[in-house]
Amino acid sequence: MKDIIIVGGGTSGYSAALILKTRFPLINIKVIKSDKIGIIGVGESTHHFGEFTDFVGLDRLDYFKECDATVKYGVYFKDWGSLDFLHSTNINSEIQRGQFRAFYAHCLLNDIDAKNMTDKFKWSNLICQKESNNEFHFNTFKLNIFLEKKCLERGIEIITDEITEVNIENNNIKNLNHKYSADFYLDCSGFKKVLISKLGAKWISYQDYLPCNEAIAFQTPDTDEYNSYTLSQAMKCGWMWRIPVWGRWGNGYVFDNTLIDADQAKQEVETYLGHEIQIAKNIKFEAGALDQFWIGNCCAIGLASSFVEPLESSAIAATHMQTFLLLNYLINYNEENQMAYNEKTKAMMENVRDFIIMHYITDKEGVFWKKAKHLPRPSSLQFNLNMWKNRLPIRSDFGDYKVYFEMNWIPLLIAKGLIDKNKVIKEYKLMGEELIKNVKKEIVLNQPKNLIKHKYFLNCIRSNLFKIKEDKELNYTIYSDQNIVLNNDLYIKSCMDAKERFNYYFKDLDETWNYRKYNIFSLTSGCPYFYKLQNNITDIVRNFLKTKDPLWMQAWLNYNETNKFEDWHNHEESTCHGYVSIQPGLSKTIFENYEINNEIGQIYIGPSLNKHKVEYTGDFAHPRITVGFDVFTNLDFLDMKEKYRNNINLGMISI
Ligand SMILES: Cc1cc2nc3c(=O)[nH]c(=O)nc-3n(C[C@H](O)[C@H](O)[C@H](O)COP(=O)(O)OP(=O)(O)OC[C@H]3O[C@@H](n4cnc5c(N)ncnc54)[C@H](O)[C@@H]3O)c2cc1C
Repeated sequence: MKDIIIVGGGTSGYSAALILKTRFPLINIKVIKSDKIGIIGVGESTHHFGEFTDFVGLDRLDYFKECDATVKYGVYFKDWGSLDFLHSTNINSEIQRGQFRAFYAHCLLNDIDAKNMTDKFKWSNLICQKESNNEFHFNTFKLNIFLEKKCLERGIEIITDEITEVNIENNNIKNLNHKYSADFYLDCSGFKKVLISKLGAKWISYQDYLPCNEAIAFQTPDTDEYNSYTLSQAMKCGWMWRIPVWGRWGNGYVFDNTLIDADQAKQEVETYLGHEIQIAKNIKFEAGALDQFWIGNCCAIGLASSFVEPLESSAIAATHMQTFLLLNYLINYNEENQMAYNEKTKAMMENVRDFIIMHYITDKEGVFWKKAKHLPRPSSLQFNLNMWKNRLPIRSDFGDYKVYFEMNWIPLLIAKGLIDKNKVIKEYKLMGEELIKNVKKEIVLNQPKNLIKHKYFLNCIRSNLFKIKEDKELNYTIYSDQNIVLNNDLYIKSCMDAKERFNYYFKDLDETWNYRKYNIFSLTSGCPYFYKLQNNITDIVRNFLKTKDPLWMQAWLNYNETNKFEDWHNHEESTCHGYVSIQPGLSKTIFENYEINNEIGQIYIGPSLNKHKVEYTGDFAHPRITVGFDVFTNLDFLDMKEKYRNNINLGMISI
């Protein structure tokens, strides 16, 4: 196989091109897209995305910046039943017995309901750096530009042309528009199915099982803070998605058009939001998938192959999965390979279909909700529901190349009361006290730490050092240092190492009070993170003092293991004073005329005479780690010698 043509330059076409080019760099790949037709322009929430970016080698920081991405920890189901809950797969204990997921049994045993199974921070616009992240929100148009750029960088040819003729010979595509030919073709042309429909593929509708068939999409303005989840808000005749991306929100109402039309959907949204909206897109769809995804020398991927509905943002994840699967069958394919691929993709789509249908099993009142609950269920779903009534789903219930595994199904089944809690608890108890104790221990150990606000985190990603606040009247400025936010663990570790070095030389002395004996930047020599920090502080200081004259800086480590901090004080000998929050915990610094809520990575600089003290605003959970610095102008070497004699200040370095 020498060349592949992909028709379609949407998320599917470009993702598939990158995946194929990564695995087979020697194959020529062309993407043909039509700017007149454009992309569908919706679909801004995804999961499994980290697997794609890692495989094709995309830098997540670039992706965040260029696609206006935000963090997603799951989907928040609001008003879908008596209990709101978050479908999130990050849990605090990974312990398994065989494939039995003990965390969930622990929750059932301890009466922790579906809402409380998820860490509280995920509901409150906070980010935990430690949580691995495989899910994102993004601006779909910017993602398209980003993926196109990456394709071009990797030698994938992109042609703008509309395919109007698909010439077929012996059940294979011979050429397109009599102009383009290749050994293999991917149909990524979206709902138009430009290639695969010509090869005779038929649409198998899932509409008998699923209630929604139309959506309106609209944008709303930016907000001061962002959710770290996709909101799925139950509405009268469907549900509304609300997705934060940098600079705006993407929203939509997915509904049953046998009950309401787009105008009524718009009105309901406006009443709910309390303001008018402009419909950007109105899309009708029929849930379903092709009977054959791969026919002859053509395979359909993305919307051209299947679409269930926007709930749980399954489509892009399924697209990636379909392409990853294809990699294994493509090069030396024969009929059996095609059959195997088609079978596996069919099972993948049925996994998505069944998972989505399960969401509508709810006791919510209303014509739509009653209708949705009583729609027929596929036998595969009913079989699994019967089986899982008595036990937790396990990985091998799913096989490979699926979109939703036990970690997705279990929280949903628990939230909906579809698992017999007592049976699971009985099984768990039979595994013995030791296991129960270990799970408990791991949950405590894995409690999330060092949380930061979502928008603050995104700001940090978007610029190396950014000004959060400047008060010209009170003469202070607060910055955020991207390095500290993104590598917080490494900074904390470096501070711990610095403390160890300090204690080696100064035994039990306190690092704060002995600031004259050392400088944190010499104590951390060899540490690249502190090297960067010193450079940033130097820039900040020079900008604050607006001088190119010689400056000296005394900088020390504060490592408070109790919540006893210094009372009101200032740094009167110096010209200006500042501090860097490495692990501030829930603390604030109170100055006489203002207060600062300390966040990870924040660098404060202000006049040295400002009196201040530190207070905790919540529980003191771990050492408070900061770096303090005083800057001096006009130091005189001879004067200092006179003044300090044998007690010379070793804490100064020139900057
Ligand atoms: C209402 C709605 C909400 C959704 N929400 C989500 C979500 O939150 N998460 C998620 O994962 N998915 C979501 N999806 C699905 C998601 O939008 C798609 O999976 C994704 O955008 C990929 O689309 P695509 O590339 O397959 O198709 P498209 O974006 O439609 O791209 C098709 C491409 O083919 C080209 N093309 C078409 N015809 C021709 C032709 N004749 N000649 C040349 N080129 C042609 C077009 O120009 C375009 O470049 C949603 C879908 C809908 C309908």
